Amino acid sequence: MKTFSMGGVHPQDNKLSARKPFMVVDLPDVAIFPLEQHIGAPAKPIVAVGDKVKAGQMIAEAGGFVSAPVHSSVSGTVQKIATFTDGWGFDKMAIHIKVEGSEWMENISTDNKLRNECNLSSEEIIKKIADAGIVGLGGACFPTQVKLMPPKDMSVDTLIINAVECEPYLTHNHQLMLEKPAEVLMGVRILMKALNIKKAIIGIEANKMDAVKSLRDDESMNRQTGESISIEVVPLKLKYPQGGEKQLIEALTGRKVPNGGIPAAVGCVVQNVGTAFAVYEAVQLNKPLVEVMMTVTGPSVTNPGNFVVRIGTPIEKVLEMAGGIPEDTGKIIGGGPMMGKTYSHTNHPVNKRSSGLLLLPKDLAAPLEEKNCIRCGKCVQNCPMGLAPYLLATQGEMALWDDMEKEQVANCIECGCCTFTCPSNRPLLDYIRYGKQTVMANIRARASK
Ligand code: SF4
Ligand code: SF4
Repeated sequence: MKTFSMGGVHPQDNKLSARKPFMVVDLPDVAIFPLEQHIGAPAKPIVAVGDKVKAGQMIAEAGGFVSAPVHSSVSGTVQKIATFTDGWGFDKMAIHIKVEGSEWMENISTDNKLRNECNLSSEEIIKKIADAGIVGLGGACFPTQVKLMPPKDMSVDTLIINAVECEPYLTHNHQLMLEKPAEVLMGVRILMKALNIKKAIIGIEANKMDAVKSLRDDESMNRQTGESISIEVVPLKLKYPQGGEKQLIEALTGRKVPNGGIPAAVGCVVQNVGTAFAVYEAVQLNKPLVEVMMTVTGPSVTNPGNFVVRIGTPIEKVLEMAGGIPEDTGKIIGGGPMMGKTYSHTNHPVNKRSSGLLLLPKDLAAPLEEKNCIRCGKCVQNCPMGLAPYLLATQGEMALWDDMEKEQVANCIECGCCTFTCPSNRPLLDYIRYGKQTVMANIRARASK
């Protein structure tokens, strides 16, 4: 079975909520819509305090070329446009809406009927995706329309769909492929049409063979021949971080993206399977990105499961649906255990970046005693980007930003393999991430001069 070649680790997958049908989380009393839910310029409000809005209505427009608009997920009244303190203690600007119900904009189809014909042109599809505020739902949150317009000097021939869900514990992408295969495949076909290409490969790790079957068996797969396109569903050997763009491209095509390069440099565009579904909804149902699918899980969670959540809902409301916060909870992590970040409070609103809530009990959450580096080289051996994590972490600890840049910290994909593998319990990724932020800010500042 295929996989990528350099580094990687094998954490226990702990998919406690696998194959649990999606449950819909109730509407909150107040929904909070941050203006920054994507990579790029923040969105700009186009509503005022006191305005009545409907579900699906645009409330903030894109703030630039690399940006995405924000839509209300509820009907209600704009209460204020003001900062809130996010789950990591930073004040962020947001539109706060007093929820009155779920009355949708008239042009949005909410009947759940499959719409599997699309006669729009590439330009029309890309415009609909941009207007719907679709961003990459694999964690990066890069505005999707930008990725569908690769540089003119790069010729793209393959769409790669990232359905590996290699983060331990997370299961919502798996469940999406079991419950909505036709919609996912239609989303893939729309993305291919937007890119004007004939080939797509969907990569799924082999602990989800029922998802492989669900897509392969779907009736719409049999219609491909008439359209002379090829959609291949490929099971992959389990290895973390196979969901990294460069790792997935290599695993599926054997092509290697050069250092500092983008997937289009080797003829590929990568989109997450959740994004393909969101594209289906945007293009076929006129439904903007107003809800996300999330996993809520953990060893002590009463009802670990997969949830559909309206954007703007505080995470405490989502946790209630999973049975509340267990008494022994030591940490609530947004995302999975490898790349996720710990929340400091539960009033943080679900947004386009949200993928999961992992509740770790105190015994698993307690920090392990950090010891000196023993020069074992395991972090180097397991780094999928060929970096020297022990060195980068020391440079980060000592604030040696120029040295970190020379050691190519910009190539770090923040996968956490180094921390996972270190026998001395060194929090390598924490030091590297901190340093990388500073280095990237320096690079951007130089470029803007
Ligand atoms: S240095 Fe970065 S890319 Fe390499 S293992 Fe650590 S987190 Fe992953
Ligand atoms: S894995 Fe840990 S102990 Fe081993 S070389 Fe890397 S930092 Fe040092």
